[in-house]
Amino acid sequence: NVFKDGLSKTRTALVEKVQDLITRRKKIDEDFYEELEEILIGADVGVNTVMKLIDDLRSEVRKRKIEDAAELQPVLSEKLIGLLRSEENTGLQMNKDGITVILFVGVNGVGKTTTIGKLAHRFKQEGKKVLLAAGDTFRAGAIEQLEVWGQRVGVDVIKQQSGSDPAAVMFDAVQAAKQRGVDVLLCDTAGRLQNKSNLMDELNKIYRVIQREIPGAPHEVLMVLDATTGQNALSQAKLFGEKSGVTGLVLTKLDGTAKGGIVIAIRQELNLPVKYIGLGEKMDDLQEFDSEQFVHALFA
Ligand code: GDP
Repeated sequence: NVFKDGLSKTRTALVEKVQDLITRRKKIDEDFYEELEEILIGADVGVNTVMKLIDDLRSEVRKRKIEDAAELQPVLSEKLIGLLRSEENTGLQMNKDGITVILFVGVNGVGKTTTIGKLAHRFKQEGKKVLLAAGDTFRAGAIEQLEVWGQRVGVDVIKQQSGSDPAAVMFDAVQAAKQRGVDVLLCDTAGRLQNKSNLMDELNKIYRVIQREIPGAPHEVLMVLDATTGQNALSQAKLFGEKSGVTGLVLTKLDGTAKGGIVIAIRQELNLPVKYIGLGEKMDDLQEFDSEQFVHALFA
């Protein structure tokens, strides 16, 4: 089970501790809630979310007259699934009569290029024709890195020289996509945060070019976040996400962190669906996010 393996660190930090608490304490009392609270906060579920979760648990325990701690685990799973579920989380929005354009935004190093490569692979396996646009013309090596992924997966990359105008790269990429009968165009963008207003200007210019060339595009703007940074990922998303037209999130490196609870915090604090999670560095290590599968993989 890919989910189970990929989430093993979070399982150890979160679920095994909860299970240990349940067997050790047996009774649901104030000390029990306090310890549960500590475990959840330790796994980066986020203070606000933990408070809400504990309140929900308390009222559920009262309502169902639960006394035995062992009976609490299914209730906790249920509550977590409830917190993670989002109505709008129904895969990616695809253009039914033309090119689907997906833009990727996020800070350097979060796994943007890797995610683009993985998704390109996924679409290709579905029989779709994929093209990549090297829109990060700023970071040294970004274009080459995308090309490496392009070769690995077997899809072309549209690029210009390093330092050139990303909107011009997007224009080229859209033209190429039209000429070649491409189904999905995946666009990388620059991730420097230190220059936020410039970055927004740059993104807006990219949007305008894409919208002009393909009405209704971009169909998704996916913000990539590094789960190993825990609460930092959340603040990054808040800072960056609000103004940049983000439609969904990708959480990477969940395999490398015990702080998988961050998924729950992010779902609670941002009104954005988590579309995919990254569970490794390889081509196949990207999973569609499913709240039930996620929670079951943790507690199974
Ligand atoms: P970018 O700067 O945002 O484009 O980030 P990269 O795609 O270059 O990724 C940065 C590093 O994170 C690379 O070493 C990737 O192999 C690694 N990485 C990306 N996604 C994952 C993931 O889901 N799991 C793990 N373990 N590593 C990842």
